[in-house]
Amino acid sequence: MEKAYKKLEMSIQKRIGLIAHDNKKRDLLEWVRFNRDLLVQHKLYATGTTGKLLEQTLGVEVIKLQSGPLGGDQQIGAKIAEGNIDFMIFFWDPLEPQPHDPDVKALLRLAVVWNIPVACNRASADFIISSPLMSEEYQRLITDYEAYKERFKGKDVT
Ligand code: PGA
Repeated sequence: MEKAYKKLEMSIQKRIGLIAHDNKKRDLLEWVRFNRDLLVQHKLYATGTTGKLLEQTLGVEVIKLQSGPLGGDQQIGAKIAEGNIDFMIFFWDPLEPQPHDPDVKALLRLAVVWNIPVACNRASADFIISSPLMSEEYQRLITDYEAYKERFKGKDVT
């Protein structure tokens, strides 16, 4: 059966979600410092502590959500599901268990559900930020979930 897709528009100004676990915050701050001129042209969202550090480093406003373990990862996930985040830079720590590991997994899952680009380390972040698509509009293809949402239509389940 042929799969149905929908298109979601990403404008030239991207809405970028940024998150770094504690052991990765230094890495992220170095990366944003290096890419400051490009990043400040976009709209930045971040989990609480990462967001504060980004504001200090970049000197621009960052939309700060809760701290990750207090629900910030889930808030970023909700924004992805609502179509309000275009891509994510998420430097998660592969060597330390996190109190909010289920939230981390959920966030990475939603990024796949909604087909947004995700960079989980510096090399991937370098490739994303240097893509010509950063300064262009882009049609993001997402699976059309209408059939899934209508799966109980016409069935008597009451
Ligand atoms: P933080 O959260 O930016 O508030 O430290 C990051 C995370 O652990 O998800």
